[in-house]
Amino acid sequence: MYTVAQLIGGVWGAGGEEGELVVHDPTDGSPVSSAPMATADVVGKAVEAAREVAAEWAGTAPAERAAALHRAADAVEAMSEELTAAVTAEMGKPLADARGGVEAGIGTLRQYAELAPMRGGRTLHGGHHAIDFMAPQPRGVVAAITPWNDPVAVSCGLLGAALVTGNVVLYKPSERTPATGWLLARALDQALPPGVLSLLTGAAETGAALAAQEVDLVAHVGSTETGRAIAAAAARTGAKVLLENGGSDPLIVDAGVDPVWAAGEAALGAFANAGQICVAVERIYAHRDVAEDFVAALVDRAKALRMGSGRDPATELGPLVDRQHRDRVHGQVTAAVAQGARIRTGGTLPDGPGAFYPATVVTDCRHEMPLVREETFGPVAPVVVVDSFSEALRCAADSPYGLGATVLTGSMSHAQRAWKELPVGTVKVNAVFGGAPGGAAHPRRGSGQGFGYGPELLDEFTATKAVHIEAPGGGHW
Ligand code: NAD
Repeated sequence: MYTVAQLIGGVWGAGGEEGELVVHDPTDGSPVSSAPMATADVVGKAVEAAREVAAEWAGTAPAERAAALHRAADAVEAMSEELTAAVTAEMGKPLADARGGVEAGIGTLRQYAELAPMRGGRTLHGGHHAIDFMAPQPRGVVAAITPWNDPVAVSCGLLGAALVTGNVVLYKPSERTPATGWLLARALDQALPPGVLSLLTGAAETGAALAAQEVDLVAHVGSTETGRAIAAAAARTGAKVLLENGGSDPLIVDAGVDPVWAAGEAALGAFANAGQICVAVERIYAHRDVAEDFVAALVDRAKALRMGSGRDPATELGPLVDRQHRDRVHGQVTAAVAQGARIRTGGTLPDGPGAFYPATVVTDCRHEMPLVREETFGPVAPVVVVDSFSEALRCAADSPYGLGATVLTGSMSHAQRAWKELPVGTVKVNAVFGGAPGGAAHPRRGSGQGFGYGPELLDEFTATKAVHIEAPGGGHW
């Protein structure tokens, strides 16, 4: 059992008399970790303490901050097996996936350590006797509020970019993965001056208290509903918000594609991490010509997936994060059935402990159904049959979200139409996951705002100052 401590003003274990939250292993329901729940008062004191060291960290040479981030990456690497085990214990992700998330996080820390010191602003032409330039400066105090579904990779992105650009950071990991957040903060803190990183634990109330503080930037990765609450809170304080939120990514299966290959892509997109990925395939528009063969192959794929504990190396489908989330997923599936959809495999609550849910394929879906339009965040593949590529594009574009989309097609003109017309941040053609390193996108609509990753995230954490310098008295230098 992990006993999590908070880090406030450079002191581990600070925080006073708070309540306690307990996390249960989604495999068997046993307690895994306990963590303090920071009150608004504690959060306020932590922000004050962080602000005291902000100017000194902002004034540290960029190369020195980058060296600290490299040391932090080394410390995370040294702790990677412990972190991997904590992720699996707290949220159920199969060990290999959990390890992949930790490795991705370490890679991101190193990338930001390399990139940050090389950044600079533009020089301008303000006149023969003037010097003009644009200089990026740290924003100051950053609140980083993160989710549980890929807790190390997501946190390393926000924390690495914010710290290396000279901000002090108050880190509030998800209440479902507090021990993972605690281990990560312990590793990072070893490499940083005291007080530059703070760790606050707790649930929505702690996050809301942090977002209401007079900080300079609130970065949130999580649900759309929370992102909107944070944006409203920040509107009152004037803090900048950076939001990477929910999605309902479509997959279009065009006429003429190999249905077995398409089913493999769909299964990967819908069932990896038990569907708990922001860019998971949430809805499928299959052309009538291939729909039947595609669904048959997808059902075969779903049935073949091995469900079990994330600790078993043979497991392909771990549990959902908890039973509350499982009830939500199952509720969406049963509501769709009541509206005329048909379950082709899965869709039942397994007996026994834990929060397991089988890979589920649902057909006879209509585009209007909430199962299709809302984010499910579970291993569910709803299929809508369409009569043309234009109809598929129209349905795919009609969403309150705009995170990503995938199109499987052999037609170059359809691929071109897809990337130009879909109002989403990322369009993938003929592969549900992947993408070149360093890519970054703006999410649209309810999926957020700003760059949540990539080199551009470094820009988000800095404010640009334009400087104009002339010789005194209008003379020459
Ligand atoms: P969540 O928004 O419920 O929680 C995320 C964090 O916000 C947690 O730390 C939580 O305590 C905090 N929080 C909750 N209510 C708050 C409030 N009112 N004010 C301030 N903070 C608050 O999300 P989740 O359930 O942990 O994560 C799943 C969601 O995250 C899904 O919607 C998924 O699509 C999204 N997600 C998006 C991305 C992306 O890059 N776009 C990446 C990962 C996850």
